[in-house]
Amino acid sequence: MHTTKAGATMSYNDLLQQITSKIKGKVALSFSYQAEDVVVLHLLLQCGVKSLEVFTLDTGKHFPQSEEFHKEVEEFFGITIKRYLPNQNSVKSLEKKLGLWGMRDSLENRHLCCHIRKVEPLKRALKNKSAWVTGLRASQSVTRSDLKIVEFDENFSLFKINPIAFWSEKQTFDYIKEYNLPLNSLYHQGFKSIGCAPCTRAVGKDDDVRSGRWWWEEPEHKECGLHIKEKA
Ligand code: SF4
Repeated sequence: MHTTKAGATMSYNDLLQQITSKIKGKVALSFSYQAEDVVVLHLLLQCGVKSLEVFTLDTGKHFPQSEEFHKEVEEFFGITIKRYLPNQNSVKSLEKKLGLWGMRDSLENRHLCCHIRKVEPLKRALKNKSAWVTGLRASQSVTRSDLKIVEFDENFSLFKINPIAFWSEKQTFDYIKEYNLPLNSLYHQGFKSIGCAPCTRAVGKDDDVRSGRWWWEEPEHKECGLHIKEKA
């Protein structure tokens, strides 16, 4: 259940229906193999959202387990997850410059890699879309603490909908269990957040959710440029 500002409660399906019914045009859900994305996909399908495109940013650096999960999710929900690939010439120059692990050498290198493999393809994915739905949660990190359920994304000039912005990690996994939804097997190997293989690792039981992402960086830098509030 969702609690509104006025203190009333409503089901998440009703909430999503109310939000998406006001949006004219195509809605895009970014799918990055995380538990949150599965929950949001399930919610969207439950509320019968029309004109939905589910897409992933195929960085070329995903874990094999995530690739397996891609197929599993498509079969489970009977959908196709569209892949947006980076520009291959840019990737070639990037690999020449950074080698296999150069993204870990500096923030500048890491941002360059994320820009080529994620931000630029995201611009194409969001082109001609009216709204972008995400599985972001405010409690995931300091960079997401001011998240809203609906906000206007100035970078990409469209509405951004974060249906589970105020959910806890426990609520997310309880939902997966309740509806028997598929889960990326990396979660059973100590991963708490899923990203590219060179930049994500398993963490301890009590560690922060995002601590395994770019673990060599300070928490305030742990974003890939997709959800940063500045001009893209
Ligand atoms: S997460 Fe790592 S491998 Fe993936 S795009 Fe960013 S820097 Fe590159």
